[in-house]
Amino acid sequence: MNKLSVFEDLSKFHTFRLPSKARSILTIRERKDVESLPRNAYVLGEGSNTLFLTDISFPIALMRMQGITITEAADHWLVDVAAGENWHQLVINLTAQGIYGLENLALIPGTVGAAPVQNIGAYGVEVAQFIREIETWDRERSTYQVFPAAECQFGYRDSVFKQNPMRWVILSVRFEFPKAWNPVLTYGELAALGGDVSAATVMNAVISIRQNKLPDPAVIPNAGSFFKNPEISQAQWQQVQQDYPQMPHYHLPSGKVKLAAGWMIDQLQLKGHRIGGAAVHDRQALVLVNSHNAVGDDVVCLARYIQQQVHKMYGVELEAEVRLLAQKGLVIL
Ligand SMILES: Cc1cc2nc3c(=O)[nH]c(=O)nc-3n(C[C@H](O)[C@H](O)[C@H](O)COP(=O)(O)OP(=O)(O)OC[C@H]3O[C@@H](n4cnc5c(N)ncnc54)[C@H](O)[C@@H]3O)c2cc1C
Repeated sequence: MNKLSVFEDLSKFHTFRLPSKARSILTIRERKDVESLPRNAYVLGEGSNTLFLTDISFPIALMRMQGITITEAADHWLVDVAAGENWHQLVINLTAQGIYGLENLALIPGTVGAAPVQNIGAYGVEVAQFIREIETWDRERSTYQVFPAAECQFGYRDSVFKQNPMRWVILSVRFEFPKAWNPVLTYGELAALGGDVSAATVMNAVISIRQNKLPDPAVIPNAGSFFKNPEISQAQWQQVQQDYPQMPHYHLPSGKVKLAAGWMIDQLQLKGHRIGGAAVHDRQALVLVNSHNAVGDDVVCLARYIQQQVHKMYGVELEAEVRLLAQKGLVIL
C-alpha cells in the first residue's frame, strides 16, 4: 500500500467536490494491502456517494484493486470482479460479451466494491439480484471473510456493509448471470421499447434516459439522489393519503408503503432552492448540487431545510442516501 501524500485535497476524490483535505490518503492496489490498513481508515471508491463536509482527521484509503475473471457454466456465467473496477465500464464490457443482466444499471457512477454497500438500483433492477458472494477483509477480526449473498442483508439501498461502515473492506464481488435473459422494462420510458429488444438496446436506452435526466457530476458536481425514498407504515400512509391522495406510492411486500421523496420536494417548489453554493437541482428535486463553490455547511443547511419542510407538510422523515463525513467521522443529518 502506498501513501499518496499528506494534507491531500479531497475535492477531486468525491463527485460533490466540496473543499476538504485529509491528513493522508492511502491506495489499496492488492489484497494484502488491507492487512496493514489503519483501523480508522475510511475506504473510498470513486466518491460518488460520499461528501466530505470538512477537513478529515482520519486516513482515506482509495480502493483501486483491478481484475475481472469470467467462468462459463452450462446455464450461467460466474464473473469475479475486483472492488476497484469501474461499475459502468463493467456493465459495458459484460453486455458486449453477451453476459446480460446489468444493463438497467448502466451509467451509475462508482466502483464495483461500493455497489453492494448500498445495493445500487435503477429502473427496476438491484445489483443484489446478481450477487452470489462477496469476498471481504474483516477489520475487526483481522481475517478474510466470504459473504454468501443471503448473509449480506440486502435491502433498499442497504446491506450489512452499510450498517457496519468501518468493519469490512470489500475486495471482490462474484456475480452470477443466468444465460436465459429477460429484459426488465417495467419503468415507463423503457416499456416503450417493446418486448423484443436486445440487452445492448436496453443499456443504450438507460444511458440516454440518464443523460437527459440527471446532471453529469463532471459538469455540475453532485452525488445523485441525496435522500432515500421513505418507507412508512400502512397506518401512517392512511393519514398521509387523506390529505394527499395524488401522492405517488408503492406498496411493498413487507406491508410498508414507499413514497417518492423527489415528488414531495418538488411539490414544495424547492427545485432550484439555494443555500450558499448548494442548490436543489432545477430539474431533479432529489438531487442536490454544488452549483457555486459550496462548502459543507451550505449542504447541511440545505438538506436540513428540505427535511424540515417535508416533515412540516407531510409528517414524513427524509433520510440521507449519501454518506456525509466530517472531521471525526460519519455525520447523520
Ligand atoms: C449522477 C449520479 C447518479 C447516481 N445514480 C444512482 C442510481 O441510479 N442508483 C444508485 O443506487 N446509486 C446511484 N448513485 C450513487 C452512487 O453512484 C453509488 O452509490 C455507487 O455505488 C457509489 O460508488 P463509489 O465507488 O463512488 O462509492 P463511494 O462514494 O466511494 O463509497 C460509498 C460507500 O461505500 C463504501 N465503500 C466503497 N468501496 C468500498 C469497499 N471496497 N469496501 C467497503 N466499503 C466500501 C464507502 O466507505 C462509502 O461508505 C448515483 C450517483 C451519482 C453521482
